[in-house]
Amino acid sequence: MIKDYKISGTLVWYYYICTREVWFMGRYIEPYQENIYIELGRLISEESYKREDKEIRLGNIVIDISRMKDGNLIIGEVKKSSKFEKSAKIQLCYYLYILKQNGILAKGELLFPKEKKKIYIELTDDIERELELVTEKIKEIITMEKPPQLKRIPFCSKCAYMEMCWV
Ligand code: SF4
Repeated sequence: MIKDYKISGTLVWYYYICTREVWFMGRYIEPYQENIYIELGRLISEESYKREDKEIRLGNIVIDISRMKDGNLIIGEVKKSSKFEKSAKIQLCYYLYILKQNGILAKGELLFPKEKKKIYIELTDDIERELELVTEKIKEIITMEKPPQLKRIPFCSKCAYMEMCWV
């Protein structure tokens, strides 16, 4: 049974998209690196919001954009599109949750540079409870001997693991 897995914001994001992908990523199975969508994701996060280039590192969590506003620490997460807004919100809440566990209260901003859209995020008790459940579920998925059953979803066509699942 795999033991050296780590829960990350990315796994939380994928939990809401595809649990099979959580299994691959949680086990450090690398996707095909030349996939155009991986490259696009990299470019958008590297080229957008270059002025705000600070980082917070907590264990295996790296929180990209952070600044102070009206006395509050603001952290950010950049996404290609708002199509998977729920996943993105919970991922950012996960970072707020980890910060809170480390004694740091913060708020979040979800950034969609291509859509010039920004959403403010705050951690609530309900989301904290959801995150506790989700992190337990992610642990269960990663420690499964085999990946969750293959099921085609709209995200498959843009997924870096497409070759592993469907070719
Ligand atoms: S190709 Fe589809 S089923 Fe396979 S990991 Fe990606 S999203 Fe999940």
